[in-house]
Amino acid sequence: MNKRLFAIFGDPVAHSKSPLMHNYAFEALGYPGCYTRYLLKEGTQLREHFLALQLDGANITVPHKEHAYRACDELDDFARKVGAVNTIVRKENTLYGYNTDAPGFLKAIARFKAIRSILFLGAGGTALATAPILQDAGYEVDILNRSAPRLKAFAEAGFQTFTFETFEAQNYDMIVNMTSAGLKEQTLPAPEALLAPLLKASKAAVDVVYGKRTPFLRLAESLGVPTQDGSEMLLQQGVLAFDLFSEHRFSCEAIEEAMRKGLRL
Ligand code: NDP
Repeated sequence: MNKRLFAIFGDPVAHSKSPLMHNYAFEALGYPGCYTRYLLKEGTQLREHFLALQLDGANITVPHKEHAYRACDELDDFARKVGAVNTIVRKENTLYGYNTDAPGFLKAIARFKAIRSILFLGAGGTALATAPILQDAGYEVDILNRSAPRLKAFAEAGFQTFTFETFEAQNYDMIVNMTSAGLKEQTLPAPEALLAPLLKASKAAVDVVYGKRTPFLRLAESLGVPTQDGSEMLLQQGVLAFDLFSEHRFSCEAIEEAMRKGLRL
């Protein structure tokens, strides 16, 4: 088989650990693949760049997942439902779109037991893709966002939604930071006065931002709450993407083992 080329598109993209993870797994599993990163400023040009680079597949990160959705010729049922694509696979000249973020998140929180109710902080693309899959898995999910517009889609899908102003205090088993607060600027995703009692009453605090102790995780830790950053989600969505890139030729356990080692480098 000829060498196959993959890339991650995003802005910013320099921080991404996906090349490390995928290249390590290609090497460990003996698959002829190479994975690079591509800083894409203009999301509408995603398809053009993908084809010009003659890629066999790609991952797409912030802020281009909706553009990736529109760039594909074919979508799997879940990607179509959530309107966001983070994985593209090319077969001949057809681009197939998938979303592995949400199933990756579901796997990532599996280690926390006795969790029933979850509060999402944030209402962006990742939250929109993840909320229904958690609900289907039996979790109760409410959404809290700093502003109202993005909450509309969740309310229409039947989720209970709040802004900081309309929030009615109640307890949740798990609090998840689904915002990008903490990625660049060191801010909490919600006012501390609102967040601290919620965290104190919870059993777990999970952040989707990876590779750093965000203000959200630091606050949770200071209150004695078990925490997890976004690395496990990154790993799990990567395993599912690799499985698609390599056309299911390896077991997901073998991919996960290799990627976990790659992430530790
Ligand atoms: P979007 O841009 O679609 O949404 C961002 C959300 O965060 C919005 O609800 C926005 O609120 C809110 N927000 C942004 N900044 C702040 C702030 N300072 N305070 C409070 N709320 C804020 O982003 P995505 O959903 O695509 O991504 C969210 C995060 O998830 C990113 O950090 C991304 O890196 C991470 N991610 C991690 C993955 C992993 O594998 N670990 C996989 C996928 C995503 P508003 O509506 O008011 O603007």
